[in-house]
Amino acid sequence: PPAILAKAPAMDTKTVQAMDSAHYIHSFTDHADLATRGARVMTHADGIYVWDSEGKKILDGMSGLWCVNAGYGRKEIADAAYQQMMTLPYYNSFFQTTNIPAAKLAAKLASLAPSVGDRSFNHVFYSSSGSESNDTNVRMVRRYWDLLGQPQRKTIIGRINGYHGSTMAGASLGGMSGMHAQGDLPIPNITHIEQPYFFENGLPGESEADFGIRAAGWLETKILELGADKVAAFIGEPVQGAGGVIIPPSTYWPEIQRIVDKYGILLISDEVICAFGRLGHWFAYEKFGYKPDLVTFAKGVTSGYVPLGGVMVGNRVADVLIEKGGEFNHGYTYSGHPVACAVALANLELMERENLVGRVKDDIGPYLAKRFAELNNHPLVGLAETCGFAAGLVLVKDKATGECFDSSLGVGMICRGHCFGNGLIMRAVGDRMIIAPPLIMTHAQIDEMMALILRCLDLTAADLKQRGLW
Ligand code: PMP
Repeated sequence: PPAILAKAPAMDTKTVQAMDSAHYIHSFTDHADLATRGARVMTHADGIYVWDSEGKKILDGMSGLWCVNAGYGRKEIADAAYQQMMTLPYYNSFFQTTNIPAAKLAAKLASLAPSVGDRSFNHVFYSSSGSESNDTNVRMVRRYWDLLGQPQRKTIIGRINGYHGSTMAGASLGGMSGMHAQGDLPIPNITHIEQPYFFENGLPGESEADFGIRAAGWLETKILELGADKVAAFIGEPVQGAGGVIIPPSTYWPEIQRIVDKYGILLISDEVICAFGRLGHWFAYEKFGYKPDLVTFAKGVTSGYVPLGGVMVGNRVADVLIEKGGEFNHGYTYSGHPVACAVALANLELMERENLVGRVKDDIGPYLAKRFAELNNHPLVGLAETCGFAAGLVLVKDKATGECFDSSLGVGMICRGHCFGNGLIMRAVGDRMIIAPPLIMTHAQIDEMMALILRCLDLTAADLKQRGLW
């Protein structure tokens, strides 16, 4: 453990769990259920591993929540936070003021975001999370259309099983039925189309390429149903993360681009997970070759060390907002927080120095793809696929037909339990098992992770047989 822990007062697991259970309402958690077992207490981390209060070492196959791209324990990042806290820990950007890290980071992000066709990215709006950034998007696109004299263009189209955050607007833009069921969501003027998930939605005999075109076509159908002059924007994740690492066919995004262009609709690329190297590029729209007008980011920009999010505002929107806009009545206390921005700068510098983005594209991404594809031989796996340094596999009842397990059996959760028990964090989204490890992994560590995954799949198979479920 790091030296700092030796100085921390020791607290046994049961004490922390009791305090936690009595007072702390967790995100996305059934508390009655948690109280019966007690939360796992994470105490420290280094590289790609985290440790719990019982001393168990766990390979973090999820980079925390898709964010610790540079890995744990990076001193350069901690030093940048300390230096900035001692220099200027806080100041706002409301009343014609700025701070040096915020301005430097805005220029840095603009230099990292590639131009595509007639779209360039010279401006950034800051928030503290992905959710706040997507709330910003809703306000920004409506402001944009107001300024252009088309205030009736309000509707934003998202996708079923997309994830865009947990605030009122974020959860509304997302297409998670469990979230919509609580609290009258979505809010008005947000609607959804089906996701491009070939494994589930492809027709018998249909090629993946044809499916991609058909799935994008659902956007055009929806636009025509609503009336094109009512539609403000389409929002999508390049690869759906929280939905289960749903990788669209290569034909999907170009067709989406053709459709939004045809009707003059703004395109929002939510890259909270996909940017900053996850898919082997600084920004993922470059990989798929489309031209967004707004790009949501968070997570990897600071490798999760402190909260920071934002929106890359493309020239199409920025030109209207800045030249015609006057005051945009929107912003957060922590927009452009100097410590968060200093941390982001240190993180991006580290990522550049260690070529973390390039190695996902040319080295560890292809190596993970090769090793992960071997899982397609496992009798429990219907399909195993990767995109950059994210991967997903679907657990199936019948490998030959692709028949899935009854969702009420919770097969994914059974598998996740075996992973946790054996020192691997692998997430379950229904019966899709997903990983998105830190971008610092070596080949040997990928091999170590693959051995763990294989062992846990075998244990899951044996467990299902024993329970009479398979
Ligand atoms: N958009 C996407 C694509 C995400 O994956 C997430 C978080 N997983 C969010 C938005 C919301 O980000 P936050 O939790 O920081 O609000």
